Amino acid sequence: MFMETGESLGICPRCGNKVYEGNSGYHCSDRSCGFSMWKRSKFWVSKKKALTRDMVSSLLKDGKVEVKGLYSPKTNKKYDATVLLDDTGEFVNFKLEFEKKDGGKS
Ligand SMILES: [Zn+2]
Repeated sequence: MFMETGESLGICPRCGNKVYEGNSGYHCSDRSCGFSMWKRSKFWVSKKKALTRDMVSSLLKDGKVEVKGLYSPKTNKKYDATVLLDDTGEFVNFKLEFEKKDGGKS
């Protein structure tokens, strides 16, 4: 059984049941559905970010969330981006979307 702590964070995009926080991630309350977002998935660990409750509720509600201070190992810098929820129906992936900024680059 999943540990269900507190209130649900939103509605599962696959089956419409409620999503709850567990020890290691956020899971659909219907176990046969299998929808999960892991707190320490590679995506978040590599960006030195934790997947928080607020982020999960935005992802479930809007399918995206704005995240500031994502870490890039390539440039060793931090950046802001919009993270999109990309659920294949089998795996939950995340995609990055960058705002196009006008103006010259220095
Ligand atoms: Zn579900």
